[in-house]
Amino acid sequence: MREIGHFIGGKHVAGTSGRFADVYNPATGEVESKVALASDAELRAAVENAKAAQPAWAAMNPQRRARVFFKFVALLNERMDELANVLSREHGKTVEDSKGDIIRGLEVCEFVCGIPHLQKGEFTEGAGPAIDMYSMRQPIGVGAGITPFNFPGMIPMWMFAPAIACGNAFILKPSERDPSLPLLLAEMMIEAGLPAGILNVVNGDKSAVDAILTDPDIGAVSFVGSTPIARYVYGTAAMNGKRAQCFGGAKNHMIIMPDADLDQAANALIGAGYGSAGERCMAISVAVPVGEETANRLVEKLIPKVEALRIGPYNDEKADLGPVVTKEAKARIEALVESGVAQGATLAVDGRGFKLQGYEDGFFVGGSLFDHVTPDMDIYKTEIFGPVLSVVRAKNYEEALSLPMKHEYGNGVAIFTRDGDAARDFAARINIGMIGINVPIPVPLAYHSFGGWKASSFGDLNQHGADSIKFWTRTKTITARWPSGIKDGAEFSIPVMK
Ligand code: NAD
Repeated sequence: MREIGHFIGGKHVAGTSGRFADVYNPATGEVESKVALASDAELRAAVENAKAAQPAWAAMNPQRRARVFFKFVALLNERMDELANVLSREHGKTVEDSKGDIIRGLEVCEFVCGIPHLQKGEFTEGAGPAIDMYSMRQPIGVGAGITPFNFPGMIPMWMFAPAIACGNAFILKPSERDPSLPLLLAEMMIEAGLPAGILNVVNGDKSAVDAILTDPDIGAVSFVGSTPIARYVYGTAAMNGKRAQCFGGAKNHMIIMPDADLDQAANALIGAGYGSAGERCMAISVAVPVGEETANRLVEKLIPKVEALRIGPYNDEKADLGPVVTKEAKARIEALVESGVAQGATLAVDGRGFKLQGYEDGFFVGGSLFDHVTPDMDIYKTEIFGPVLSVVRAKNYEEALSLPMKHEYGNGVAIFTRDGDAARDFAARINIGMIGINVPIPVPLAYHSFGGWKASSFGDLNQHGADSIKFWTRTKTITARWPSGIKDGAEFSIPVMK
């Protein structure tokens, strides 16, 4: 059995804790490798290594730091097929979808190729008599990232690209479900010219996360995963004096106005609801048609599309979606579907008990579609993170708007309409971070920033875009007076600019 270790000081190293987690191929249900779970001492060794390497990296001029990313982007493009296969085999999503996962991370690496410009400070000449004032954005030192299983390419790159480009060293603690791609990315960063120790990958579970959160030399922590853990990481990091940005779960709604193109809306719902088996934090899991007629016509269009979903292993080129990540995830999703039936929703398409010939032990779940879902049901309140779409019928626009407004989560939301006025009103009033207008999955591009509101995010700075440069640097502001005036004697009131 293949053992997956860590990547420290520019090299793959075996785990020494004696603790391991199983890594599955979700299509076959077989354990294909074992990933080492780091001890506190292993995490500490990685931090020491990063801390020693960081000052020289930060001192390197920003153009040279950018060049590592230019090369890294080229390597990612060259090895895209191989990387996507590695990702899919442990995650379960289709190879095409894995390419999207990697490309969304690659785009953040392209963004940080502009680091010489992005990291520039500010300067005010003549802020007072003979006084200049300027600010610098300096790296924090050692930063850490804790990432979820569902985007093992994109999310590590969201974090390590800006952190490293800004001159930090970085410790990545990837999901223990699909650790192989993050290790390959670290190896490729070295090949692209990154000095050893600037990107260390430490595999592990809660114990490694706790070691990160209490380590005195880690100054900033970025987390993406489920809401309870995001809340825990945010609180614990803050208690330990670290800055933190923590992104959690979601329940994304799509409102379909009576004037929307219903074929377009139905296709958008199928892709956004069932793609990647619903295991996306920006998946649409609630459809809100406005008016009975819209709802009837929409559900009529959705049923045959859900029934026709093609489910297969990651390497089936014709598959729309693959299995879910674990046996436990499958059992959890099917239990939630059962609860929906028990609580009175109409199960228009039942995906439970799906078996794929030749892959009977795989973690496959068929697509389910619920109609007549109400806000008190568990399937509405909970993030299912599986191929299940709930239709909640709204009488009018105000009722439709109030549903995502009142929901605990606030990651993404979409409205499908031909009415510009309704779309503008929706974007202005909704209390959610990312809005799609006739766009079902409104994931912002790398040069904008990604982040939800409410229980989907803790902290004030988003992933990538200008926010990421702020998150991974500290501001230092210098006030300088040359050459005279210093001999004037003591001033006892606080200086103000006259
Ligand atoms: P998860 O919360 O189980 O795990 C995320 C990370 O936390 C992993 O690295 C894991 O090892 C670690 N972890 C798990 N339990 C822990 C504990 N008790 N203490 C400390 N660390 C712990 O999430 P997941 O199942 O890997 O990913 C799915 C979740 O991530 C979904 O809720 C999804 O919505 C969310 N997600 C959010 C975003 C976003 O940007 N908002 C993006 C992707 C995924």
